[in-house]
Amino acid sequence: HKKAAEAEEFVFRSKLPDIYIPTHLPLHSYCFENVSEFVDRPCIIDGSTGKVYTYSEVELSARRVAAGLNKIGVEQGHVVMLLLQNSPEFVLAFLGASYRGAMSTTANPFCTPAEIAKQAAASKAKLIITQADFAPKVKKFADQNGIKVVCIDTAPEGCHHFSELAEADEAEMPAVKIDPNDVVALPYSSGTTGLPKGVMLTHRGLVTNVAQQVDGDNPNFYFGKDDVIVCVLPLFHIYSLNSIMLCGLRVGAAILIMQKFEIVRLMELVERYKVTVAPFVPPIVLAIAKSADVGRYDLSSIRTVMSGAASLGKELEESVRAKLPNAKLGQGYGMTEAGPVMAMSLAFAKDPSEIKSGACGSVARNAEMKIVDPETGASLPRNQAGEICIRGNQIMKGYLDDPEATERTIDKEGWLHTGDIGYIDGDDELFIVDRLKELIKYKGFQVAPAELEAMLIAHPDISDAAVVPMKDEAAGEVPVAFTVRSNGSKISEDEIKQYISKQVVFYKRISRVFFVETIPKNPSGKILRKDLRARLAA
Ligand code: AMP
Repeated sequence: HKKAAEAEEFVFRSKLPDIYIPTHLPLHSYCFENVSEFVDRPCIIDGSTGKVYTYSEVELSARRVAAGLNKIGVEQGHVVMLLLQNSPEFVLAFLGASYRGAMSTTANPFCTPAEIAKQAAASKAKLIITQADFAPKVKKFADQNGIKVVCIDTAPEGCHHFSELAEADEAEMPAVKIDPNDVVALPYSSGTTGLPKGVMLTHRGLVTNVAQQVDGDNPNFYFGKDDVIVCVLPLFHIYSLNSIMLCGLRVGAAILIMQKFEIVRLMELVERYKVTVAPFVPPIVLAIAKSADVGRYDLSSIRTVMSGAASLGKELEESVRAKLPNAKLGQGYGMTEAGPVMAMSLAFAKDPSEIKSGACGSVARNAEMKIVDPETGASLPRNQAGEICIRGNQIMKGYLDDPEATERTIDKEGWLHTGDIGYIDGDDELFIVDRLKELIKYKGFQVAPAELEAMLIAHPDISDAAVVPMKDEAAGEVPVAFTVRSNGSKISEDEIKQYISKQVVFYKRISRVFFVETIPKNPSGKILRKDLRARLAA
């Protein structure tokens, strides 16, 4: 008991007081709770076509999509896979599924057919909403498993068109009773170890996490109804889905959707639509800092640049500050399993000059954070680095069909262990300093070493392998492999790289292969990744 009491000693909370959060509301009702205040204002601006959808149009269309999903056979509790680039239809499909009481599992459409099939099978998706370009990737798997495919642009033979959903009669939607603990989003993440797993985010969890960012009295609020927020980060990742789409809907902002990142196009759109809020990831910040074209565009409307999903170097921070002098720059820290946002410098700083370089701000309101010694599990005081743990209504319910992995991640007291190493300073600012977990982040995208290691070991010419991150200026990190050749094998670095490239989405490609005699492991057979990372650094 004494030990447990001591372990609870150092718990950190936000600098701001807790707020009221309407956790009884389903996510869509919460997002549209104040919609009467901004009915005719732009909700979505399609950056590709210039088409504007008002708040009342989006709200109505989402209910129609729900009716359409019902008509096509999606029931409450079913899973819909969104295999889409950013588009207005992504927003409508996600909200429609929420209204239907269904769950959305989001995936990167550039994944390989095998990667997509794996997620569709694991999540038991009943319907896939995608684009004509990607339909061939899923058609075979869908046909074999009786999964319907809906395309948002043109529907190839055997596929449905999104208009079937969007033009359904909203009055035909049966009443659905949603429990706050029902799952609404099911993104995939490898978490601290192993293969990608379905992260069960509930209505209550996402309502809480959005509220933590944009609700209540906030002296230096993240954004509001007069803002234009650019949505260039992929909506299939929870950062964009939550901190751009859901937060944007909740506050009544205009969400400017870009299908994909392209630096000049981004700057053009910022100028044309007078973007005020720019949530980015470090590689986009880097592209702006390095772009010779910055001077040609008026980017002065941007008042806030937020960077998250991976660490932002100090030099990079400074060079973008110089390029965008009107903007406050801050970092956010999140993890899919945590809801995702745990800390955010801009939302919670009382005064922008308070924002420290390199810091991620203070912990979100209505949440608790502690820093624990990875060896002993004891909580640590300020200025001592350890594993970041978070607790609150916003964290995931668990991993889908994987109670062991859930137990490894969320302990009995409800603390979610992030696998990140950080410390909190004397001013309540969180600094991330290292990563304890296996995860590799290529431009903010997740690469799970276990997935690549399984592929490598399956090759007859490879007897053992370990994949670790290597620092890279453009991508932040890239995966590299240490491999042991099978007896007599002469397999080359290029052959191994090609073998992997054929099976994975671009950001999981192995950038270097190092041949070794053995893979260092501890007595229980765990790869000593730290040793391999040290070898790379040397
Ligand atoms: P994901 O679940 O894909 O959002 O990845 C979460 C992981 O990204 C975290 O556990 C961190 O390792 C990393 N990460 C997110 N935000 C930051 C940040 N601001 N600084 C450093 N690492 C970050």
